Amino acid sequence: MSVRMRHTRAHTKNRRAHHALEMPRLSACQKCGAAQLPHHMCGNCGYYRGRQVIDMAAKTATRAKRRQEKLKSFGEIKKKEEDGGKENALSAETLSAKKKK
Ligand SMILES: [Zn+2]
Repeated sequence: MSVRMRHTRAHTKNRRAHHALEMPRLSACQKCGAAQLPHHMCGNCGYYRGRQVIDMAAKTATRAKRRQEKLKSFGEIKKKEEDGGKENALSAETLSAKKKK
């Protein structure tokens, strides 16, 4: 569509008067009382309409486990890189020694 006509500042501002963001309407969870979106499972206890949908305690436990494993693996990678650097340095030294000979 082509631009038809320039709008007045008042028209622009009147249009933009309805562009404000609204806060989500939250309600209290029936189980634990935490703020919860309507028609959604409670993010705190995992209940929806009095029924357990997700075992949140187990989920947080598995998440913590996975995080620890991930951190462990990162540590191993770092150690390996450090060892590799040392090996490279040693090999460079040995190479220079060989060149001198
Ligand atoms: Zn809840």
